[in-house]
Amino acid sequence: MAYRIPFNRPLAGARAIKHLTDACEEGHLSGDGRFTRQCHEWLESHLGIRKALLTTSGTSALDMAAILTGLQPGDEVIMPSFTFSSSANAMVLRGAVPVFVDIREDTLNIDERLIEAAITPRTRAIMVVHYAGVACEMDPIMDIARRHGLSVIEDAAQAILSSYKGRPLGSIGQTAALSFHETKNIIAGEGGALLINDPDIIEKAEIIREKGTNRTAFARGEIQKYTWVDLGSSYLPSEIISAFLWSQLEIAQDLTAQRLSLWNRYHAHFAELEQQGILRRPIVPDDVVANGHIYYLLLPDQAKRDGLIKALRAEGINAVFHYIPLHSAPAGRRFGRAVGDLAKTDDLSGRLVRLPLWIGLGEDVDIVADVVKRVLRP
Ligand SMILES: *Cc1c(COP(=O)(O)O)cnc(C)c1O
Repeated sequence: MAYRIPFNRPLAGARAIKHLTDACEEGHLSGDGRFTRQCHEWLESHLGIRKALLTTSGTSALDMAAILTGLQPGDEVIMPSFTFSSSANAMVLRGAVPVFVDIREDTLNIDERLIEAAITPRTRAIMVVHYAGVACEMDPIMDIARRHGLSVIEDAAQAILSSYKGRPLGSIGQTAALSFHETKNIIAGEGGALLINDPDIIEKAEIIREKGTNRTAFARGEIQKYTWVDLGSSYLPSEIISAFLWSQLEIAQDLTAQRLSLWNRYHAHFAELEQQGILRRPIVPDDVVANGHIYYLLLPDQAKRDGLIKALRAEGINAVFHYIPLHSAPAGRRFGRAVGDLAKTDDLSGRLVRLPLWIGLGEDVDIVADVVKRVLRP
C-alpha cells in the first residue's frame, strides 16, 4: 500500500547522480578508490577516530568488530536485548553468547548499572547500542571495561554525528559500527563503516576486510606482493556505493540539522500531551548531543500503541514499532541468555511507536502530529 506520508523516503538527488556519473567515468569501480578514501578521511576527521573502513553494511562492520575482538566459542558479550538482530548475530557467528541485560527507562539504552552483575569468567566484551542516536553512559561503561579487561564495541549504527560529553559516538570504544542503510541519517542504500580506535588492530582489520590478504598494504606500496595471511572475507563496498555516500557526507552536518529541526518540531507538538500524562516523549540527557535519528513516543500500554498505529495508517501515515526484544525472539532464545527479568525492555518495547522522519518531510510533521493529538486526546 502506498502511504500519503511514508515512514521513510531516502534522499537521492542530483548531487548523488553527479558523483555516480564521475565514478562510472573514472574507470575504478571496485573498492578503495578515491571516493572511498574521501569517505574514510571525512569520518576520521569529523568523528575523531584513528581509522575508518567503509563496509557493505552496518552488519558487516559488526561482523568485523566481532572477529577483531578475537571472540572464541563460548565467550560472552554483554548487550541490550532492545536492539536490532545484527548486534547479536555478529557475536553468535563467532560462537559467542549474547548476554542480555535490561535497558534504562529514560534513554532506552543498556542500563550500565546492570553490567557488572552480568560479568562471568567467560565475558570478553560489552556491546553498547546508542539507541536513536542518543549516547549510552559511556564513562561508567568504559570504567567497568577497564577494570575487567573487556573490549567495548559501539553499535553506533544510528549515531553518526551524535556525541557524549563532547566526544563523537563511535570514537570511545575499541571498535564501532556505523550504518548507511537507507533508513539511517546518512545513507548509501546499503552500507556501513567500521571505526577503529585501537591502533594495534588497524592492520588486522584491513586484512579481514580484504579476504584475509594484505592487499591494502600492497596498494599503499608497503609490500611487493600480497598474499593470504589471516582470516577474512569481502567487506569493502564498490566505488559506486562510496560515490553515493560521499554525496551525503559532504553535507552531513546540514542533513543532521534538518533532521534535528523535524525532531524538535515533533517534540514541541507533544509537550502538552506529555504534561497531561497521555504519552512520554524521548529524553536526551544534558551531557549528550543527539542527531535526530528517531522520533518515538511511549504510550501508556500496548493496546493504545497498536491503536495509534492503526489510526495513523487509516489516515495514510505509516508509523512503525520496534524491536521484538532479542531475548524473546526465536534466535535470541536459542543463542543468547538473559540476566534478570528484562522487565523494562519488555514493557517499553511494547509501548513504543516511531513516527515518520526523513529529509523533505517538512510541514507534514504537523499533519502527523495533529492526527496523533486527535486520536490520543481524552
Ligand atoms: C541499522 C542497524 C544495524 C544494521 O545496519 P545495516 O547497515 O542495516 O546492516 C545494526 N544495529 C542497529 C542498532 C541498527 O539500527
